[in-house]
Amino acid sequence: MLWEELNWAEFEKIVPERRDTAILPVGTIEAHGVAPLGTDNLIPFEMARRMADELNAVVAPLVNYGITRTLLAYPGSLSVTADTFERYMTEIMLSIADCKFRKIIVLNGHGGHLEQFGRAAREVWQAKKIKVAVVHWWMCCDDIVERIYGRSGGHAATDENAAIQAIRPELIRRDLYSDDMVYNQPPGFTIYPNPGTILAYKENAGFLDFDQKKAETYFDAVIERVKTHILDIFKRWERLP
Ligand SMILES: [Zn+2]
Repeated sequence: MLWEELNWAEFEKIVPERRDTAILPVGTIEAHGVAPLGTDNLIPFEMARRMADELNAVVAPLVNYGITRTLLAYPGSLSVTADTFERYMTEIMLSIADCKFRKIIVLNGHGGHLEQFGRAAREVWQAKKIKVAVVHWWMCCDDIVERIYGRSGGHAATDENAAIQAIRPELIRRDLYSDDMVYNQPPGFTIYPNPGTILAYKENAGFLDFDQKKAETYFDAVIERVKTHILDIFKRWERLP
């Protein structure tokens, strides 16, 4: 159920009686190895679309401009400043709350704006008493990459690349890939611009695997994991005013 495709009169009938949750997918535009610049947008949007019915949710329009940091030097990457992003996200969530939803799930696809969501979610909850959970999906799914691929992932690495391959395989530029593209930043370094766009956070990790079946298995398991956590949060929230 996509917000943008609903008519206002339909919306009035659906929210909040039949669907009391808004899922808000958020990402950014930045270089992602052999995956597209919009990787951080495509993943949370598809996850939202596939979870919406079971969560009794409406999928809010995607916010596809975020805070891009160390990868901004790579062609086609885009960013807004941190303050602008935080204010914009806060106002979007306040406005969603005014549409009578009882819960907001932010599905975040990008690591560059974690702090901003911490503050924005608290402000929206305090102002509107709407319950808000922000999910940085890849962080609760590390063990799934390990289980399926036998190694951990990273930015544009095994896991993120697999998610895009599951959603839009034709967008993966396998022909551009070699294992030496995977960069493992040494501990203690802060580097602008980042020397790589496929970033592993451990040694001997992150390498891409282009098996279509594994990619689909991985992404299905990720959706299942995130959905299970969210349903548990919903159940626990019921005890709260
Ligand atoms: Zn990404």
